[in-house]
Amino acid sequence: MDEAICWRAVVENDRRFDGLFFTCVKTTKIFCKPSCPAKTPKRENVLFVSDTETAMGKGFRACLRCKPTEITGVNEKTKIAVEACEYINANRRADLNELGKSLGLSSGHLQRVFKSVIGVSPRKYLEFIKLKRFKDGVSGGKEVLEAMYDAGFESTSRLYENANQKIGMTPGRYKEGGRNLVISYSITKCSLGNLLVAATSKGICAVKIGDSPEELSAELGREFVNAEIRVEGALIKHFVDAIVELIEGNEVGLELPIDVKATAFQMRVWDELRKIPFGETITYAELARRIGNEKSVRAVAAACAKNNVAVVVPCHRVIGSDGGLRGYRWGIERKQQLLENEKADIALERKLFT
Ligand SMILES: [Zn+2]
Repeated sequence: MDEAICWRAVVENDRRFDGLFFTCVKTTKIFCKPSCPAKTPKRENVLFVSDTETAMGKGFRACLRCKPTEITGVNEKTKIAVEACEYINANRRADLNELGKSLGLSSGHLQRVFKSVIGVSPRKYLEFIKLKRFKDGVSGGKEVLEAMYDAGFESTSRLYENANQKIGMTPGRYKEGGRNLVISYSITKCSLGNLLVAATSKGICAVKIGDSPEELSAELGREFVNAEIRVEGALIKHFVDAIVELIEGNEVGLELPIDVKATAFQMRVWDELRKIPFGETITYAELARRIGNEKSVRAVAAACAKNNVAVVVPCHRVIGSDGGLRGYRWGIERKQQLLENEKADIALERKLFT
């Protein structure tokens, strides 16, 4: 079982993990359930084992306080999540359908169970594992490239993608309301309301969030009045899935290509926006400074407001100098919710892997 997950369960006295593993404390020679109310031992003194026989075989005695030998049964959801973790660890893949099949569950059910127990989606968990393997490899003396391939990153660009995100731009293609352009789009529900994702053959061209699906598609139609617009869920499904993950506060280890109309100035601003790390915020003044023109705060704010691909270009990560949220094209409450989701995810990441 993943020791990072075990350790978190111990620190949080999470009784959902009782029976799935036991904590042996080397200094006291005692073993406990994860939920033991006694003082949390130091991490370096802890050994995790899967059953009481192993603990006793290694010379540990059962804790009198939490009575680990008297456990009957385990939490089914936790068991499923732990098995899914093991599968992801062993296969270094987090395909929901594949995972569901191996565990006899629908992919949606599995996703919910996994998230409720582990705290992040299977895909995010896989990213954690890869990053951890990479860091362990490097600190263990491996060359960066070797550690990277061992960890399961296919290329340096995937590892460093956040630093290298570039906006896909083809100036001039959007003349005349998108004439000769074929746009596929679909609308799905997410925790912020209805989500419209639209893409050309080159990348995502619109991401809109709103209350009414009709209003969202009407808006798309007004923006690309001469384009051929089709409702086409299957073609852009992976974009939609990734954007929903982002909205729910799961950083996706995936570079999303975008294909948007922009002036040179807007492009510089949006390019800079994509460099703001997940879970962090900067001020409009700082953004202006980063694009090399401290006096352009107003223009920078206007460019943020013109962003047509919500979340993918994370204009929600820019706030006022006093910490106020200022505006958001898709509603200030949504901006607040997005930032909260990202912060919760980062907090969990720190808890899991530091
Ligand atoms: Zn105990």
